[in-house]
Amino acid sequence: MRTSSAKALVIALFLAALPAAHADGGPPPRSGTTFVVPIYGTVVHPYDAPDDPFAAGHRGVDVSAPLGSPVRASAPGTVSFAGNVAGDLSVSIDYDSHLKGGYSFLGQIAVRKGQHVERGDVVGSVGRGHPGSGLPPHVHLSARRDGVYFDPLGLYVGSRLDDLLDLTG
Ligand SMILES: [Zn+2]
Repeated sequence: MRTSSAKALVIALFLAALPAAHADGGPPPRSGTTFVVPIYGTVVHPYDAPDDPFAAGHRGVDVSAPLGSPVRASAPGTVSFAGNVAGDLSVSIDYDSHLKGGYSFLGQIAVRKGQHVERGDVVGSVGRGHPGSGLPPHVHLSARRDGVYFDPLGLYVGSRLDDLLDLTG
């Protein structure tokens, strides 16, 4: 099931009141969460939960930002994958033994497998995004708990999701 309606495509993440930059260069976590948004931009393709684990869907969120913009680790962890799969430069970070984050369709990779990263460390940069999508440059962000994908936006913004989504577009 696809939810790529015009309405869904204009969901935007507005952060007019960005907190001061974190000491390591990344933004601090918002209250209610220990995870930071890997990149601030516009959600050009939201999470679309599949009807079952094998069905088609969009198991992540595509966030658009200028080509080459830094993409940061949401939380401390260990890089479990950093490489090229069929032309897709992607990084996976194990935040703990259950929770894993994915950063896909990167333009460049800035970390290597086995490396420890701190929250806010740059893991790569924005690339062109899903091939043939027709969308502006974007990254595909995903999250898995015990192997099951869920909407990463909930992870990043915690209880303050309503503050960040503008549905008026
Ligand atoms: Zn995507």
